[in-house]
Amino acid sequence: MTNLSNATHGYHPVTLKNLADTPQWSRLSPEQRQGIRTVAQVYPFRTNRYLMDELIDWDAVPDDPIFRLTFPQPEMLSPRELSRLAGAMAQDDKRALKREVEEIRRSLNPHPAGQLTHNQAMLEDEPLPGLQHKYDQTVLFFPSQAQTCHAYCTFCFRWAQFVGMPGLKIASKEVEHLSAYLKAHTEVSDVLITGGDPMFMGAPALARCLEPLLEPELEHVRNIRIGTKSVSYWPMRYFSDPDADQVLALFEQVVAAGKHLALMAHFDHPRELEAPAAREAIRRIRSTGAVVRVQAPLLRHINDDARLWARLWRGAVEQGAVPYYMFVARDTGAQEYFQVTLHRAWRLFRQAMESVSGLARTVRGPSMSAHPGKVRLLGLSKLGGRRVFVLDYLQARSAELVGRPFFARFDPEAVWFDELKPASPDDEPFFPDLDDGLKLAAGS
Ligand code: SF4
Repeated sequence: MTNLSNATHGYHPVTLKNLADTPQWSRLSPEQRQGIRTVAQVYPFRTNRYLMDELIDWDAVPDDPIFRLTFPQPEMLSPRELSRLAGAMAQDDKRALKREVEEIRRSLNPHPAGQLTHNQAMLEDEPLPGLQHKYDQTVLFFPSQAQTCHAYCTFCFRWAQFVGMPGLKIASKEVEHLSAYLKAHTEVSDVLITGGDPMFMGAPALARCLEPLLEPELEHVRNIRIGTKSVSYWPMRYFSDPDADQVLALFEQVVAAGKHLALMAHFDHPRELEAPAAREAIRRIRSTGAVVRVQAPLLRHINDDARLWARLWRGAVEQGAVPYYMFVARDTGAQEYFQVTLHRAWRLFRQAMESVSGLARTVRGPSMSAHPGKVRLLGLSKLGGRRVFVLDYLQARSAELVGRPFFARFDPEAVWFDELKPASPDDEPFFPDLDDGLKLAAGS
């Protein structure tokens, strides 16, 4: 079990280069070690000593959820892909290995939901790298110094950010672009600083992102969100890192300027939230006036159990954090390994909701961040004698779609929005072809 005194050591990343030096490496079988080394050619691997020493239960490996969350598993690739990689590695043929790796990566939908093609922010007809504007009110900013994390999740849809393939990375060196864009877009009330993990940045770099948002010209920006897994993967960021106090002072400065500051904290398993170091981190973050919102994807092998979700949401409320989202695992990377059918996702969500009090029912889900918007599965119903999924848009590129229930034919095997079919012609506008526009049919 974690205790604060042994959790205050400095940040020690563990990568393929030094993994064999860790005491836990010898606990793995030769097959497990080979599997990790092989799959990590495709999915970037990085963990740290806090995770290895405090969060993973090594007696439960390989089934331990935090182990699977951070250590690539052979089942995350097809047998054919595995053998192609193993062949190139056995021959020590670096060029062939690189070719195989790139080919597999390109087949894994590295930028789902049109991230590279449909969300690019433009100013005076010039694209602004590292800025995305998908929904009217919210701009996403990807600071270049935040394109890494304290550890990498094996399911991550941002994996293309870390692997260095040309044309796959979204990043910006230009905080000035963000300010200029926001000055020209007074409809924007929210900025989400994201990555990677923005809380990987040191306090000075974080200040360079946050302080311009406090300028009087950006009065219309009311809410600043920071998407982060640091409270789980490196909670010492908030109490014992050398610049922890500076980071908290910066949060206080943002709150004192009248902005709502929210840490969109990613927890995949209640064990992460229950660790004493995470508790201390949340306590300190909340003491600045910032709000901690808890969100995660639903992942087979990690958290596909309603009891875990209920425990996560109850634990969040107990610590003064706000349960926010249950996402459906995205259509990228090792989706097949992690996927849960939409029907099961909804049942798990409902079961978890049933067993928590109203204070934890702030959570929304199961939600898919799909190409046209953020689609929530509200449940099952019958229409004209046929079973249907009931859905709505929590957010949409076209604001007209938001909040209107619509129906899709029931499909017990579907795992993602693009597999669903409208239940009737009235529902077709909710399945827009983005190239043909997004408008609802007149009268709908
Ligand atoms: S911390 Fe977030 S961005 Fe980083 S690997 Fe995990 S899910 Fe992806």
